Amino acid sequence: MAEYAHRLDGIGSTIFAEMSALAVKTGSVNLGQGFPDEDGPDAVIEAAVAALRAGRNQYPPGHGTPELIDAVVAHQQRHYGISLERSQVVATTGATEAIAGALLGLVNPGDEVVVLEPYYDSYVAMIQMAGAVRRPVTLRAPDFRLDLDELAVAITPRTRLILLNTPHNPTGTVLTRTELDGVAALAQERDLLVVTDEVYEHLTFGAPHVPLASLPGMAERTLTISSAGKSFSVTGWKIGWASGPAWMVAAVEGAKNWLSYASGAPLQPAVAVALNEHDGFHRQLAVGLAAKMDLLCDGLEALGMTAYRPDGTYFATTDVSSYGYADGRAFCLALPEVAGVVAIPSQVFYDDLDEGRHLVRWAFCKKEQVIRDGLDRLGAVDLHAR
Ligand code: PMP
Ligand code: GLN
Repeated sequence: MAEYAHRLDGIGSTIFAEMSALAVKTGSVNLGQGFPDEDGPDAVIEAAVAALRAGRNQYPPGHGTPELIDAVVAHQQRHYGISLERSQVVATTGATEAIAGALLGLVNPGDEVVVLEPYYDSYVAMIQMAGAVRRPVTLRAPDFRLDLDELAVAITPRTRLILLNTPHNPTGTVLTRTELDGVAALAQERDLLVVTDEVYEHLTFGAPHVPLASLPGMAERTLTISSAGKSFSVTGWKIGWASGPAWMVAAVEGAKNWLSYASGAPLQPAVAVALNEHDGFHRQLAVGLAAKMDLLCDGLEALGMTAYRPDGTYFATTDVSSYGYADGRAFCLALPEVAGVVAIPSQVFYDDLDEGRHLVRWAFCKKEQVIRDGLDRLGAVDLHAR
């Protein structure tokens, strides 16, 4: 009787929730789940307070509040030269709902979805809930580059769409123009849709982020997803958006109508203020994150791990095979007790276990002192399996 529907087989919980709960239970430094420990811009938070006080507390339009839609349109034009009509943007409850809406609204049961491996866990869950089949293309250590020949092989006559993610969680890869040109060529040759998750678009460390939708011939087949959480350090607000061809946006909205109908009324105008007036915030955030990435990677290397430095995002990956654990999950489950630190075993993001077995993801979107504390804790104990 107390049994989940098969739709949820293997996806009943998330590794992030599991590891954050472990961090709380053991009093560990949480370098696992990717959320910053400092808030976004004061003026943006004040804009949300003002919206709450101004009575923006009932259902907003399901499509999104006009200020936010206009701000996304202006953002895409200003940063990337992408021109959109209002009907080409829909507001969502975080990027998570945009991903859900895209897969439910664009993919039929039995269709294949090509996805970069390691993959963000919600892709797997939503591909499964849509009744579709995932076809991973692996980004391999040490560089985690996209192999276009492998991408070509993963595409079959049943492929409906390519689900891209750049900057990429968990590897930190920022796809180059050459890699994106290759994706674009294949998508056009094989007449595929592309959904691209660009939530870390502003968090890069020198490598330029290029939206796939800005490449020739791609605007008409690409749905771009982003959210305020990462760019403005408000991950708990869950305000995201999808943009692209009106019909693809309408497909997302068609599913969104029945998932949430509408998203946080007072937060949408505040995110509009963030997008319109606070580019400086994520510019500074990215500079700070680059320094924290080096701090963390230098520290982990000094402890004997091989660190793979990311081009963007909040995350760095290390190989922990030298410590003698069976795999990264065993290492991450022991770590809170042994050292009082939490990290994420990357193997949960892989079908090909041999590629991910000994990889561990560390988040560096934390105060410098927290990262130092985590490194001190790791350095104070013997990390080898006993
Ligand atoms: N995509 C990726 C790649 C992510 O890392 C995350 C989590 N931060 C999301 C989507 C979800 O974003 P949101 O919190 O806006 O739903
Ligand atoms: N995106 C965050 C991460 O990768 C977590 C989001 C979540 O917990 N669902 O750590």
